[in-house]
Amino acid sequence: MNIKAFFKVSYGLYIISAQHKGKLAGYIANTAFQVTADPPRFAISCSKDNYSIDIIRKSNAFSISVLDKNTSTELIGKFGYNSSSSINKFDGVNYIIAESGAPIVTDECIAWFDCQVEQEVVLNSHVIFIGKMVKNDLIDGSKEPLTYSHYRDVKKGVAPKNAPTYIDKGKLSEEAPVVQTETQSSGSSYSCDLCGYEYDPAEGDPDNGIPPGTLFEDLPDDWTCPICDAEKEDFSKQ
Ligand code: FE
Repeated sequence: MNIKAFFKVSYGLYIISAQHKGKLAGYIANTAFQVTADPPRFAISCSKDNYSIDIIRKSNAFSISVLDKNTSTELIGKFGYNSSSSINKFDGVNYIIAESGAPIVTDECIAWFDCQVEQEVVLNSHVIFIGKMVKNDLIDGSKEPLTYSHYRDVKKGVAPKNAPTYIDKGKLSEEAPVVQTETQSSGSSYSCDLCGYEYDPAEGDPDNGIPPGTLFEDLPDDWTCPICDAEKEDFSKQ
């Protein structure tokens, strides 16, 4: 198996949301696809370990919010690296309630689809829900959608463990030994143990006031992972 081939499959990035009896749940997904045209149907893949799965099953509905290319790492971190069982991810986030009852995140999103579940396909680790579109809307037609490759290459994000496209970093290094780069020789890179984000000293973290060329060791003590908010001590040297 060539792990790197998986990186050549294209995806977008979305927030999938659902609601049951006032309990809101949502998560970041790259696996959301239109699978039929008439009527429009969408398929999503949800981990069995994901809190949202029960909410989707009980409500028989889900929404898909298409993330803007410039979506903040804060929003991705909030929905992608926390569980709806422990926090209300919708606190401080703008959303509307769809016809199906599912919430639809509208912050940093450019389009949305509200879907009623018609079928589910149970796999070993994930469930594929197929939903008929009830309604949709375009929030901002002038903006581009965020792709998974942009998230990985530019935002340095990686898929969390529950994602259908999760790749064990250990396996990746066995398959393709990491080549020593100029960046690494001018400072070690560190990765977040919780979300996998890699801090690259050559790039710094300009969104959070860290200029390019700042070594990990020189980051302020209160600096936290731009994706999941983990502390510096939760990072490991690569
Ligand atoms: Fe992190």
